[in-house]
Amino acid sequence: MSTTFSRLIMGTWRIGAWGLDSAGVARLVEGCLDLGIDTFDLADIYYGYRGEARFGAALAASPGLKARIRLISKCGIALVSPDRPRHRVKHYDTSRQHILSSVETSLAALGVERLDLLLIHRPDPLMDAEEVAGAFAHLHQAGKVAAFGASNFLPHQLELLQSRLGHPLVANQIEVSLLHTDPLFDGSLDQAQRLGIMPQAWSPLGGGRLAQEPADSALGRVLCRLGRELQATPEQLAMAWLLRHPARIHPVLGSGKLDRLRKLTEAQNLTLDRQHWFELLEAATGREVP
Ligand code: NAP
Repeated sequence: MSTTFSRLIMGTWRIGAWGLDSAGVARLVEGCLDLGIDTFDLADIYYGYRGEARFGAALAASPGLKARIRLISKCGIALVSPDRPRHRVKHYDTSRQHILSSVETSLAALGVERLDLLLIHRPDPLMDAEEVAGAFAHLHQAGKVAAFGASNFLPHQLELLQSRLGHPLVANQIEVSLLHTDPLFDGSLDQAQRLGIMPQAWSPLGGGRLAQEPADSALGRVLCRLGRELQATPEQLAMAWLLRHPARIHPVLGSGKLDRLRKLTEAQNLTLDRQHWFELLEAATGREVP
């Protein structure tokens, strides 16, 4: 089973804040498809364990939509929540039982038979890589998950998991943006490029802060100047900066507004040259490269 994912991914973490009913979410999904975004990022825990059911209700309201989209989900974080009365403390759980039951719950909530990609949401200090590999193999053989990846894993953590798997991990979803440049230097993006793993960038606009960067900050000044030069908004420049990276970063967008998503997709037509890219890096980190 091989699946392709759109270069831009639509995130659903903020689904509760979008203020949309099922028909509204279905229209947003349709709008994303029109923009070439066919991949949707979910997780068991989003919106207090109710995000996937809300997204599933939108899919049920619009027959035919399921066949046109790719679904990513995640598991491994256990929140203290009225929906999970047995959780006494926030913790991570990458046991076989938790992974299998989380996937079953996600499939039922979404009303689908298969996830295109399952990610382990956070590195778990108690992760037994052999056990996770067994759970992945079971889900794959049962046709319930097509491909697997990680999220927020550092290179050595990803390597440990990969060492027990019979098939390659396809993605690592990490925080990377002009406001969070660590993965450029901690080996994460080097590893992704070396292994051909898709780096997915969460909070590509720093949760919206890059769209509102003060015009008098060092980064704000460069964003304004390059914006005038290249006819682009600050958020389009922030996206183009990610897309310019050779590891083929796949930004996971968080806005629930189609007009904003449309503007972000236009950033795919904007190519930053090296000096633009380094100017933005210097302004974001506050220092010249050595
Ligand atoms: P983001 O794109 O950096 O931020 C989106 C936020 O910025 C929204 O609240 C949006 O509000 C706001 N915003 C303000 N001005 C905007 C503009 N001009 N254009 C676009 N957005 C603007 O992404 P994010 O929501 O923080 O994260 C994106 C996705 O990453 C999540 O949905 C989730 O799927 C994933 N994620 C994964 C992890 C992980 O650990 N794997 C962690 C966090 C997030 P409006 O809705 O009003 O436009």
